[in-house]
Amino acid sequence: MVLLPKPVKMHLNDLYGYFRNELKPFFHSEEITALAKIIFRDIAGVKFQDIFINGERIIDDELCSRVHKAIRQLRKQMPAQYITGICEFYGLRLNVTPNVLIPRPETEELVDWIINDNRVCRKKNIRILDIGTGSGNIAITLKNKIPSAIVTATDISNRALTVAKENAGIYCTPVKFLRLDILKRLNWSNRNPIIDKSGQFDIIASNPPYVPLNEKKSLPENVRNFEPHVALFTEQKNPLIFYDAIGRFALRQLKNNGLLYLEIHETKGKQVKSLLKRLGFGDVKIKKDINGKDRMVRCGKQ
Ligand code: GLN
Repeated sequence: MVLLPKPVKMHLNDLYGYFRNELKPFFHSEEITALAKIIFRDIAGVKFQDIFINGERIIDDELCSRVHKAIRQLRKQMPAQYITGICEFYGLRLNVTPNVLIPRPETEELVDWIINDNRVCRKKNIRILDIGTGSGNIAITLKNKIPSAIVTATDISNRALTVAKENAGIYCTPVKFLRLDILKRLNWSNRNPIIDKSGQFDIIASNPPYVPLNEKKSLPENVRNFEPHVALFTEQKNPLIFYDAIGRFALRQLKNNGLLYLEIHETKGKQVKSLLKRLGFGDVKIKKDINGKDRMVRCGKQ
């Protein structure tokens, strides 16, 4: 491994120049700018524009070495959000660790669809369930934007639930968190606290694992080597296994006219639609993301 030289006293703009230079062999110029914005803000507490306005500011050693450490981690393709421990999602700053997926912009679009859906925002005290909550991003944002909602969130991973609880605490958003492996039907029994009679939901939302294992090789290194596989990948032989389970679960747990919102793989729109229809859902609607890719589906329990 090449050891990076450690310059002694540095001005802010020198440190920025150094950051760019060290990352040049690994990232495109725009990627470096995006990384710099995150690292300088969340690690060094420096606003991006300050680099240009207050570029002559002397950076203390401690801060300098934090940025140097981040450079080393970025060169190994560690996602910037795991380095800083923070991810911005729908205007919230959420804690993230390698035990949770880094919330994506496409999931912001799913949340936005729910929040602005006429069929949702007209109702009061709606009950919402998020399945596979990860960092809690969907559940916490929904509770934050629809304060009268009663929100429950589940995940298979206790470590993820710890992160999600922390995030709910930061935003004082009371969400009930429970461990659930949605693929284990036995867990859907009446003894499970979310399946009792009060577990009649108006909305169920989920961003389940949907990347087939055979696509693993083509994923960028920063995703493949750092993000939790349990949150990303699904069996090649049965890539819709989570949609089938969540669909069946939702048919039992939604109120009549309740809505199910799911994030989907861009190539699986048609298949997810026909699966949901086959299970008995009505009004199945696919929505494209900002890049024009099939990314979300909404359907109703009739
Ligand atoms: N959207 C994520 C990605 O492309 C995958 C999320 C998921 O599997 N639910 O990496």
